[in-house]
Amino acid sequence: MELRADLHVHSIASDGRLSPSELVRYAARVGLSVMALTDHDSAEGVAEAVETARQYPSLLVLPGVEINTDMPHSELHMLGFCMEYRDPVFQKELCGLRMGRLERGRAMVSKLAGLGIIIDWDRVQHLAGDGSVGRPHVAQAILESGYVKTLGEAFDRYIGREGPAYIEREKITPQKAVKLIIDAGGFAVMAHPHSFSPGKIEELLSELVPAGLSGLEVYYGNNKPADVEWLVSIAGKHSLLTSGGSDYHGFGGEKETGLGNADVPTGCIDKFLQRAAKHQPGLVQQWNLTAAR
Ligand code: AMP
Ligand code: ZN
Ligand code: FE
Ligand code: FE
Repeated sequence: MELRADLHVHSIASDGRLSPSELVRYAARVGLSVMALTDHDSAEGVAEAVETARQYPSLLVLPGVEINTDMPHSELHMLGFCMEYRDPVFQKELCGLRMGRLERGRAMVSKLAGLGIIIDWDRVQHLAGDGSVGRPHVAQAILESGYVKTLGEAFDRYIGREGPAYIEREKITPQKAVKLIIDAGGFAVMAHPHSFSPGKIEELLSELVPAGLSGLEVYYGNNKPADVEWLVSIAGKHSLLTSGGSDYHGFGGEKETGLGNADVPTGCIDKFLQRAAKHQPGLVQQWNLTAAR
């Protein structure tokens, strides 16, 4: 049976536009079989997503997270899947990362003010709602205040990595993120690795595979076939799982593809689900039975 999956999706629990329930309903409407909610440094939306998915027996919703981790001069995003998301230690660590994001968001607003870009911190917080504060919220506030014409311009001129108002976030190492995910009962997958060179990925894998990394996100948004090909071969060489997702945020930016549009092959989804079943047997079995009906 052909399956369609999107294993990288953001909600209002971080910097996505839709609530977890809205995302689940949308996923069902576009005919997805599997969706993982992977908010930045947050699993706060997972319970709602899993609960809503009970109304859609043919849709399996898996717990996920995307943890932003620190490397010299850059960062690496680590996806976690199928954790026991209510685990108190896991929750506490993520909460710490979100507190760091709050302080950093406020500091960026001050830095912007020093550059003559006056935006309201309350507005940024309002845009983030209960979710993790991120640069997209700051970018939105800059846009609303009329300083730029697009969100991309806010990044290019002010808050991109090389921008004058950019501030580092409190981050953890990739190894620590892998451990956090495993300790909470999940498995870790390196997000959008095509942003690194093949050489850099090999270097990263030499440390992260021994640390317990399980997979690479090979099918991503509108990845080119050539990217997919070399990532599949690297994953094979290291006996890693592959995953795929759109990184849907719901704002329709230039780089964004629609929910479910990552062309994840059914073979990849099958292997992913075999692994998911070891970590979240209840969720997967429930879905299998009902979907088979
Ligand atoms: P943060 O985690 O707060 O550092 O924000 C990172 C998020 O900002 C990414 O996940 C993207 O959604 C968004 N982002 C980063 N760079 C850009 C860019 N140049 N244009 C638009 N969005 C961006
Ligand atoms: Zn995001
Ligand atoms: Fe990411
Ligand atoms: Fe993402």
